[in-house]
Amino acid sequence: MENNERMLILVRYGEVFLKGLNRPYFLRALVKNVRQAVKEEGAEVWLHDGRIFVAGFTDLEQCLERVCRVFGVHSACPAVEMEKEDFGAVCRRAAALMEGLTGSFKVSARRSDKRYFLDSPHINAEVGGAVLEANPALQVDLHHPDHVLNVEIRDKAYLYVRVAPGVGGMPSGTGGKAALLLSGGIDSPVAGWTMAKRGVSLVAVHFHSFPYTSDRAKEKVLELARLVGATCGGMKVCVVPFTHIQTEIHEKCPEDYTTLIMRRYMMRIAERIARQEGARALITGESLGQVASQTMEALAVTDAVVEMPVFRPLIGCDKSEIMDTARRIGTLATSELPYEDCCTVFTPRHPATRPRRERAEEGEARLESEALIQEALAGVETVLV
Ligand code: ATP
Ligand code: MG
Repeated sequence: MENNERMLILVRYGEVFLKGLNRPYFLRALVKNVRQAVKEEGAEVWLHDGRIFVAGFTDLEQCLERVCRVFGVHSACPAVEMEKEDFGAVCRRAAALMEGLTGSFKVSARRSDKRYFLDSPHINAEVGGAVLEANPALQVDLHHPDHVLNVEIRDKAYLYVRVAPGVGGMPSGTGGKAALLLSGGIDSPVAGWTMAKRGVSLVAVHFHSFPYTSDRAKEKVLELARLVGATCGGMKVCVVPFTHIQTEIHEKCPEDYTTLIMRRYMMRIAERIARQEGARALITGESLGQVASQTMEALAVTDAVVEMPVFRPLIGCDKSEIMDTARRIGTLATSELPYEDCCTVFTPRHPATRPRRERAEEGEARLESEALIQEALAGVETVLV
């Protein structure tokens, strides 16, 4: 190959950039996560000069896709790396890189090696000229170009045109840990993914009502946990036996409050598990007004039993928006498999949409709350996905 040329991927990070004094910490986490993501590609990853480099992969497209899915990656650019000393060769390579493109372009040079014999405006002009000469179908447009040919002069020269958008967000592991209440539905996996995108590590809590809900329903939840966990370093799933609590509520509490009271027990148990797991917040997939238990009044009565902050990242989303995200992140098909959820087994005919806290408490006073919670906690089964 001419001039020791090779293909690599230049990774651009977004918000990590803004983190001021904590920047090295976020960057280290991002490099570690990119490295983990491309391990199977045999690629090496390093940080140099404020950029993350990925090289040594066998399949560029596959590697690029993996890089773009890492939280904290703003975009990734397949780039040609070559020696910079022979500037004629750099121009020829740039022209070849633009081959087959039509419309307008501009060259955007960046020279971090300030001793290089040409400055950025001159690099722009020279490379631009070479591209035009070799590609008559292209014109220069400095303001609204169809293509930007980036030329970076560092310890080597880097040329790239293509910019693949990354998922954005913050590097996994930098946003603390939270417990995700994960059902088999469409919403909660999306809620978990949305928080994971902000760098949050997850531990999942799933309430299982055997035999009203089957082992297949549980498997489905584990699969959803696997799909979401794959984006954020895996997750532990705590499966909580919930049948006894549900039958007790069903027998002893006012029917229009059963769903709400059930949700309150879920929150209480999830909070205890969160504490044990070192998590500092709870995450649910609720969206305002979607069902009776998701009105403002109902959410307030639900939250009254826990001290931890409850994150509801989908609170302002429409179902169709949530479904779009579920499709994009690959959880929709699994969520849509038929299953029974513990919520649907004991659904009241007329759930209260404006519940009062006192009335929920009156209902709960008929239950051996602490004993039921302890029994459920004692039966927790944990699965690492
Ligand atoms: P989803 O699609 O996530 O199941 P949903 O719209 O069906 O949500 P609900 O069934 O009212 O809503 O549940 C609201 C939230 O409560 C869920 O998003 C989830 O966070 C939590 N949740 C519901 N059922 C369970 C369960 N069996 N285990 C754990 N969390 C649950
Ligand atoms: Mg549900």
